[in-house]
Amino acid sequence: MTEKSYPELFSQVEENYKVICDNIAKAAIKSGRTKDDITFLAATKTVDTEVINHAISLGLDHIGENRVQELLDKYERYDLTNCDLQFIGRLQTNKVKYIIDKVSQIQSCDKISQLAEISKQAKKHDKIMDVLIEVNVGREENKGGVDPDALYEFIDEARTFEGIHVNGLMAIPPICDDDKQLMKYFSEMNQFFVDIKAKNMDNVNMLCLSMGMSSDYALAIECGATMVRVGSSLFGNRIYK
Ligand SMILES: *Cc1c(COP(=O)(O)O)cnc(C)c1O
Repeated sequence: MTEKSYPELFSQVEENYKVICDNIAKAAIKSGRTKDDITFLAATKTVDTEVINHAISLGLDHIGENRVQELLDKYERYDLTNCDLQFIGRLQTNKVKYIIDKVSQIQSCDKISQLAEISKQAKKHDKIMDVLIEVNVGREENKGGVDPDALYEFIDEARTFEGIHVNGLMAIPPICDDDKQLMKYFSEMNQFFVDIKAKNMDNVNMLCLSMGMSSDYALAIECGATMVRVGSSLFGNRIYK
């Protein structure tokens, strides 16, 4: 793919943004909700801040990065006046300190050691960090996320850390182009979300169910997602430099 000029990219992003907002609204209705019940977070890896800021000017108000170094490189240039920045990638324990004061939520927590470090750094900054527990819903080997069978126990421990608030769940289901199978994963996630919510555990509020990406965000919403993370449908195919 050749690189596009900014004006060209901007109008493409504008068009895509409208389409996605529209699809989100329709899927929300299908699930008995409205667009205001769904958070549209743009996954901004590899995207220039000029383009990200253009999307923000259109009304986008949540972005997520998934590499610490990239987030730090771009941090001063994001226009975050009306936009919230989250971390959505794999987070090594030794890098928590670099982002603790820069993001509102860390979406991919799946290890107690990682939560211990987030807790330590959050306390240092006198802040409560929202975290989502990532669930390995497809029970895939060599994939991040807590095993579904260990989820309750994990959350019961996660919620005890000072400086941490368990705000929900996130998942990246196995790559698959069968909608029925995908719906099974998304529905399973929704069931965990509902079940955990019903337990009314202290320091756990199931407010955010983050699932669904460019190819399947509408389906995810129909199955209960409260947040979708969309990258390439908004910004075009990624160009890795
Ligand atoms: C890149 C990324 C997305 C978005 O992927 P697209 O398929 O481009 O929409 C969502 N979630 C995470 C964690 C990502 O890293």
